[in-house]
Amino acid sequence: MLTVTEIFYSIQGESTRAGCPCVFVRLTACDLRCSWCDTAYAFLEGRKMSVDDVVAAVDQYGCPLVEITGGEPLLQEDVYELMDRLIGAGHVVMLETGGHRTIARVPAAVFKIVDVKCPGSGESGKNDWSNLDRLAPHDEVKFVIKDRADYEFARDVIGRYGLADRAAAVLLSPVHGVLEPRALSEWMLADRLPARLQVQLHKYIWSAETRGV
Ligand code: SF4
Repeated sequence: MLTVTEIFYSIQGESTRAGCPCVFVRLTACDLRCSWCDTAYAFLEGRKMSVDDVVAAVDQYGCPLVEITGGEPLLQEDVYELMDRLIGAGHVVMLETGGHRTIARVPAAVFKIVDVKCPGSGESGKNDWSNLDRLAPHDEVKFVIKDRADYEFARDVIGRYGLADRAAAVLLSPVHGVLEPRALSEWMLADRLPARLQVQLHKYIWSAETRGV
């Protein structure tokens, strides 16, 4: 069984697949409390669903792309069966994870978006750095940037771990409403940073408060 906050069909707002139609499976619970978290409603809410029920709910949209997110999706043991089932059914499966739980058991075919928490999140002490050695070439690494100190932290990590050569993309995402994308862009350009600016597209299409998009 899985505890599920919501399943919905929307436009992918993040990652290199931003702009693509996608089904989202948001699993309940998270063991972090990032200062800028925009999905706190996924900490506690949720309903029990079998893996069969989740797969059926996804399939009704007829969409090849699926993202499993949270909360922190790797907290629930049955997420592994869910990923296997969705891959077996022919879906392109993305997994968004906070970067503090090991990605060692995630099926190889899954496209992982692995966060590295910066100091401004208040949770940077929880990063599982061994995850960066487990990245597949098709995976992506994401830093959410709150301020200049976060940017400098991300820049150092990108260089120290050679992330531009390990992952398909290194994403820098300004905290919506806190850091102007223009400021982050100018820092990236000044440093010739081998990374990609990411804005949360869904917050521009709808609003920062709209759920289920
Ligand atoms: S890991 Fe994600 S869901 Fe958990 S507190 Fe941080 S931003 Fe929120």
